Amino acid sequence: VFSLSSLCPLQVELHVHLDGSIKPETILYYGRKRGVPLPADTVEELKNIIGMDKPLSLPGFLAKFNYYMPAIAGCREAIKRIAYEFVETKAKEGVVYVEVRYSPHLLANYKVEPMPWNQPKGDITPDEVVYLVNQGLQEGERDFGVKVRSILCCMRHEPSWSSEVVELCKKYRHQTVVGIDLAGDETIDGSSLFPGHVKAYEEAVKNGIHRTVHAGEAGTAERVKEAVDNLKTERVGHGYHTVEDEALYKRLLENNMHFEVCPWSSYLTGSWNPDTEHAVVRFKRDQANYSLNTDDPLIFKSTLDTDYQMTKQKMGFTEEEFKRLNINAAKSSFLPEDEKRELLALLYKAYGMPPAASGGMLL
Ligand SMILES: [Zn+2]
Repeated sequence: VFSLSSLCPLQVELHVHLDGSIKPETILYYGRKRGVPLPADTVEELKNIIGMDKPLSLPGFLAKFNYYMPAIAGCREAIKRIAYEFVETKAKEGVVYVEVRYSPHLLANYKVEPMPWNQPKGDITPDEVVYLVNQGLQEGERDFGVKVRSILCCMRHEPSWSSEVVELCKKYRHQTVVGIDLAGDETIDGSSLFPGHVKAYEEAVKNGIHRTVHAGEAGTAERVKEAVDNLKTERVGHGYHTVEDEALYKRLLENNMHFEVCPWSSYLTGSWNPDTEHAVVRFKRDQANYSLNTDDPLIFKSTLDTDYQMTKQKMGFTEEEFKRLNINAAKSSFLPEDEKRELLALLYKAYGMPPAASGGMLL
């Protein structure tokens, strides 16, 4: 199924959810082992039930997680294994550096209120979830040769979790955690300004924790403005609807804001109307700072190559643009400056760009 993308020799991915990237085989294994009922018995059936082929509403999309998260959440072995297997999958896709994100609370079953996925109470805290994911990612890094960092997600509908999320970012920085995110349903009224989220992002700024926010995906340009002005985000998750506010878009272009674009995801979630020009086409035309990402490959039945093929075949993207956007992704990654330079050097070499020619692009 997986193949090295022929469209770009080395890729950087900045927006992908760990809990949206689990192997169906692993879900079935832990469903059976733990006696957690699943809607299917075979990999093919499970893929068809969890996966999407055509656009669904946001609630329809979010319902997918209810099917399989109970098989993984609250199990030490499963949590570590999905992190490890994630790195293996990215290695097969030709990814050289990836930032993977997840909500520690949604994988926990102790000291988490309300309890996610109707699990019985157990003994795995959000803190231990981060510890386990870090272990899986670090072992994966060693075994598969992909550089991996992680981002911890606050959830729009649970602002009471956010202070712990930022504390976990502080505790586990240097052990893969490089940033904070705000995920979930951005159409929840006023959710960018819930004090729990605002305070967590203030704490992140104070402590030099990098910040991204899901905004302007299903929501309007106003959500993007809030993410930038109130949450001081450094990158925008999706951000397609930014282009509907020309003044805001112009300001973000001037500030070199990075957009984490997920093309195939935007089609399946209906956040992009296929009768209109995709925002990424505008980003390309304006030579904006953006990356291409899978978001939730389990649910979208995709690999990173799906997103590259879609932009190449439907939107006329060239190899030159793929190289440019990956260099921008590396520059906008949440790595420290010295590691960023190393990553950029790798890309320049793989892309056949001599240091002299890429001089203007060096940090
Ligand atoms: Zn996302």
